[in-house]
Amino acid sequence: MANNKTFTMIKPDAVEAGNIGSITKMIQEAGFVIKAMKLTKLSKERAGQFYAIHKERPFYTDLCNYMSSGPIVPMILEKENAVEDFRTLIGATNPKEAAEGTIRNLFAKSIEANAIHGSDSDENAIIEGNFFFSEVEKF
Ligand code: UDP
Ligand code: MG
Repeated sequence: MANNKTFTMIKPDAVEAGNIGSITKMIQEAGFVIKAMKLTKLSKERAGQFYAIHKERPFYTDLCNYMSSGPIVPMILEKENAVEDFRTLIGATNPKEAAEGTIRNLFAKSIEANAIHGSDSDENAIIEGNFFFSEVEKF
């Protein structure tokens, strides 16, 4: 089935602030089913690989330092129209622009430490899910 999976990770600021439970609850109440999930940590090098698409951007080095600064919670999620619906649920990259009631509006600290990631396409959802999870970890 196409269009039914996305990838997310709760970022270090939200894990540190104790918001794993609140964010996971919002994700499930929005109709997403968790197909894989773990608490893990990225090295600076692996953070750089994950965000390689942004390596020419001015924020890349800071982003890699931040994303490797503490534990994260990656997840594979299932729902009809998953990628688009999840981007709506998390809100804009900059929390100042994120719609009221979105995850970033409620939990993000800054444009960098913005609480949560969401894949931007079906293709990237698969690549990003495979970056963190082996086949036997996906339910
Ligand atoms: N980011 C940043 N400064 C910026 C834009 C983005 O630090 O000006 C960080 C932020 O954590 C963001 C990530 O880089 O979530 C990836 O950026 P992207 O434009 O892909 O935003 P997203 O898809 O996460 O909304
Ligand atoms: Mg993006």
